[in-house]
Amino acid sequence: MSPLDTNPHLGKRDYYPFKRALVTGGAGFLGSHLCDRLIERGFEVLCLDNFHTGRKVNVAHLADNPAFELLRHDVTEPLDIEVDLIFNLACPASPVHYQYDPVKTMRTSILGALNMLELARIKGARILQASTSEVYGDPATHPQPESYWGNVNTIGVRSCYDEGKRGSETLFADYHRQYGVDTRIVRIFNTYGPRMLPDDGRVVSNFIVQALRGEPLTLYGDGQQTRSFCYVDDLLDAMMGVMDAQGVHEPVNIGNPGEFTIMELAEKVLAMTDSSSTIERLPLPPDDPARRRPDISRVKSLTGWEPKTSLDEGLKPTVAYFKSVVKAG
Ligand code: NAD
Ligand code: UDP
Repeated sequence: MSPLDTNPHLGKRDYYPFKRALVTGGAGFLGSHLCDRLIERGFEVLCLDNFHTGRKVNVAHLADNPAFELLRHDVTEPLDIEVDLIFNLACPASPVHYQYDPVKTMRTSILGALNMLELARIKGARILQASTSEVYGDPATHPQPESYWGNVNTIGVRSCYDEGKRGSETLFADYHRQYGVDTRIVRIFNTYGPRMLPDDGRVVSNFIVQALRGEPLTLYGDGQQTRSFCYVDDLLDAMMGVMDAQGVHEPVNIGNPGEFTIMELAEKVLAMTDSSSTIERLPLPPDDPARRRPDISRVKSLTGWEPKTSLDEGLKPTVAYFKSVVKAG
């Protein structure tokens, strides 16, 4: 039991026994929404970011909140702060961004995990790793349960990210076994929503921005590859649920099992934006997974969570957000 569990002065503002949360990658898409959630729940939040793909504007609305602090720091460097709860999200998530400097991506995944795990070990903090469905590679099992070990190329263009995240999971598992650190690992499947970068390079943002600008939608391959898209609010409900659950050290998939071809997504975006954009076929990038869908039985049985937002419902606020930040072409 952590000393925090026995301290009657902690957790007064909330039922939660922890007070100080660190969010690495906190100025990014998911991290900034997580900062909002944690502030709402009465935490003091330290948002750490090197601003590679994150932006100050994502957390600007929190700047005057006394419970919020922003720190420019790179997770590849050690950190010594007082903290009770760590969410390790720092890492570029879009193939375009993580392939831009693949060595740095691997350093961020491995050294970042190591530095944050050391912090958790020394401070007795609970720590969550934002892992990914990419640990399954181009999956031979469908849908993907956590028990599936994956089909990953070790030397391809996606490997810096896939193997980096797999290595970080290994570190989390070993810090738990070897030092008893209170770890959580969530494997996040494609998630979308407001605050994604317009030039992020991921498919939902690319298609919406292209449709709003009247530019051709860049469809890679024949568009028959599939993904399962989760709306950000649902994702955060699940992430908080896993962090709250006691003694969950094995990986947990979180995502929406609704599965769509990329062609179907293109058609939905065109209809929803009332766009006259055409569809332009481009080559499929190397090692692009052919299909992906989470088996979410584990998260359901652990937390009772299941996603509430359909793709059609989630695209509406996402399109509205992009309309507010993107000028029509
Ligand atoms: P994002 O690119 O918007 O956020 C990543 C954040 O990490 C950015 O703010 C970036 O500046 C920061 N960062 C990157 N390298 C860093 C470093 N070395 N030190 C400090 N900060 C650093 O991406 P996101 O979609 O918000 O993803 C957040 C996390 O969730 C990532 O770890 C990603 O791998 C994981 N994830 C996301 C998805 C998704 O669909 N959104 C899917 C699977 C996994
Ligand atoms: N994709 C596409 N056009 C784009 C961007 C992506 O057709 O402009 C495809 C990509 O080839 C992949 C799918 O959409 O099959 C999801 O790509 P994304 O980069 O969003 O995520 P990931 O491949 O990491 O799941």
